Amino acid sequence: MASPPDSFIFLFLDGVGLAPTSAQNPLSAANATPYLTSLLGMPLIQGCDQQTPTLLCKPIDACLGVPGLPQSATGQTALYTGRNAPEFRGQHQTSFANGSLRQLIEEWGLFKRVLQLGGTATMANLYSPQYFEAIANRRVRYSVGTLLTLTAGLPFRMQYEYERGEAIFWDITGDFARYRGVAAEPITPQEAGKRLATLGGQYTVTLFESYLTDFAGHDQDPEKALRVLQLVDAFLESVITHLPSHTTLIVSSDHGNLEDLSTKKHTLNPVPLLVVGKAAPAFASVTDLTGITPTILSLVQQSQSGLEKWQSIFQTLLRSSLPPYRGTSSLGKKAKNSSKSRALSEIRRGFAKQLAGKKLFKRSLNSLTKTVPPE
Ligand SMILES: [Zn+2]
Repeated sequence: MASPPDSFIFLFLDGVGLAPTSAQNPLSAANATPYLTSLLGMPLIQGCDQQTPTLLCKPIDACLGVPGLPQSATGQTALYTGRNAPEFRGQHQTSFANGSLRQLIEEWGLFKRVLQLGGTATMANLYSPQYFEAIANRRVRYSVGTLLTLTAGLPFRMQYEYERGEAIFWDITGDFARYRGVAAEPITPQEAGKRLATLGGQYTVTLFESYLTDFAGHDQDPEKALRVLQLVDAFLESVITHLPSHTTLIVSSDHGNLEDLSTKKHTLNPVPLLVVGKAAPAFASVTDLTGITPTILSLVQQSQSGLEKWQSIFQTLLRSSLPPYRGTSSLGKKAKNSSKSRALSEIRRGFAKQLAGKKLFKRSLNSLTKTVPPE
């Protein structure tokens, strides 16, 4: 039985850079990320590079050759389109995907291009009606991830999906969801991780965004930073524990912030690229934010063309396994047995076996191409 086609979870953690150990770097605290620290053999700080057949960790550049501090809108656009968004805009652009960034997302967006390759894609984040009201009232603008989903024509996960265990709020546990008007019961980071891993196994590409880390960086509160990191660490442990064998997890960020609590602002530090799963080695050549989406797309393309090859082999087998039915009289003439009716019943049994075989082929074909349609 062929294994399912490769799938990818993109876990975006806002505002996490790589810096050396220091009192101002909460990531270097021994108790901040026990799971990640055991995975990497050291905390997620400068020099934590790793490369094995199923694990990659390396720093990647978030400045993209444009002066000034890297910002969210251009950074996220670069991550999800593979295009140099700050260069395109002539500057690093903060917060929302205003103006011409939408052009880049429409043309180069990861979701849309995965669909064009015959794959499936989904945003795992829980959305609220209040968010879309705020957009309509122009109190907020679309985030890059929201536009990525919209421009691909994909649906958003709302309370219904959350209650079915098929969505995660950006704060991981859903504690803040109540303040956004969603009557959602909070969940543990373990449950959130299981949800993301499960969705990740069902779609070619699944994106989840958490902004907790960036907020903690702006707050410059070491205790809050520690709590957030412990939560993210428990979440990551659960995602990786539940990761299906055909799914690769990619964790990255748009700019540094949390790793330096001495400043309220973003930093010029590189951001981590952490990849866990069978496709990890393919990301070794990524050097900046623009390298992730093209690598995912190239792997999806390979996986999809492999799938098409299998489909065509199955189709050929289906056609060749079942000769056209010529009726009982011509088959009967070939039967040399003196009892014509016994020969005919043998032939019918053989034919029934062929039909069962055909159904088996069809079932294999279906499970090979099975994808869960978006709600
Ligand atoms: Zn950001």
